[in-house]
Amino acid sequence: MTTSLPVVRDVPSLRNEVAAWRGAGLKVGLVPTMGALHEGHLSLVRTAKEKCDRVVTTLFVNPRQFAPHEDFERYPRDEAGDAAMLAGAGCDLLYAPERAVMYPEGFSTNVIVSDVSTPLEGEFRPHFFGGVATVVTKLLLQSLPDTAFFGEKDYQQLQVIKRMARDLDIPVAIEGCPTVRESDGLAMSSRNAYLTADERRAAARLNQIMHDAIKAVRGGEPIAAAETEAARHVIAAGFASVDYVSIRDAESLAPITSLTRPARILAAAWLGKTRLIDNMAI
Ligand code: AMP
Repeated sequence: MTTSLPVVRDVPSLRNEVAAWRGAGLKVGLVPTMGALHEGHLSLVRTAKEKCDRVVTTLFVNPRQFAPHEDFERYPRDEAGDAAMLAGAGCDLLYAPERAVMYPEGFSTNVIVSDVSTPLEGEFRPHFFGGVATVVTKLLLQSLPDTAFFGEKDYQQLQVIKRMARDLDIPVAIEGCPTVRESDGLAMSSRNAYLTADERRAAARLNQIMHDAIKAVRGGEPIAAAETEAARHVIAAGFASVDYVSIRDAESLAPITSLTRPARILAAAWLGKTRLIDNMAI
C-alpha cells in the first residue's frame, strides 16, 4: 500500500516543516533530484532514512544546468509516479518548486567552483557545474537539513558540491552514496530511457571496459595507455564518440601518472543522441 506524500512548493512551507522537525530534535536528510526516479534515487532516499529521522526529496529539473542545445525540454517528467515511489521508499516530504520560485524575475547570482569543476565534465559541458552549484546552494539554504545525500554516479558533481559546501560554510554534511547498477552493470540513469534496444545492449559494455582498464593499470599498464585502449574499446562497442575515459586523483580529479593515492576512472561517451557517464574506484 502506498500512502500519499505531502508536497510543498514554496520556501516558507519547506522551512517550516524542516525547522519543526529539527526543533523537535529529529535529524533531517535531503535528497536533491531532477525526478524521473529509479532505483538509484530510491537508494539515496533509503540511506537518508537509515541515517536520519525524516527525509525530504527535492524535484526540480534545473534549467541552468542544461545548455540551449541539450535535453531540458525532453527530459522525462512524471511527478505523480515519482511521488508514489518516494512514499514507498520512506520519504516524508516532497519539495517540488516551480521555476519562478527558484529563479524569480531578476535572479542574477551564480555559484562558480573552480579547480575541481574545470576538467572532464567541465570541459565538455562548461555551463553545467555553475548551474548545479547554484541550484544545490539554494536547495541546501532553503531547507537547511542536517545531511544531504548525493550519488557517486555523478562523481565529479559530488566533489564539486563537497568543495562548495566547505568553501561557503554551508552547515550541512554532504554524503556520497554508491552507484546503483542494472544487472548487466549499466549505471542507472534517467537518461537510459532514451536508449534504443541496440544502444541499450552497447551501453552495458561501458562499465565492463572500465573494469578491464582498472585491471590493466592494477597489473602495471601505464595509465595513459590504459585510457587510450579503453576509449578504443568503447568505440568498438558501438558508441558514436568518446568525450573522455580518464584516470584521475579521486579527490582533486587532477591527472595522475601512477597509483600512489586513491584514484578513479571516469568516462563520458555518446550512444546516438544520448550521453552516458560512469565512474569507478580503482
Ligand atoms: P539526477 O536526478 O539525475 O540529478 O540525480 C539525483 C541524485 O541521484 C544525484 O545525487 C545523483 O548522483 C543520484 N543518482 C543518479 N543515478 C544514480 C545511480 N545509478 N546510483 C546512485 N545514485 C544515483
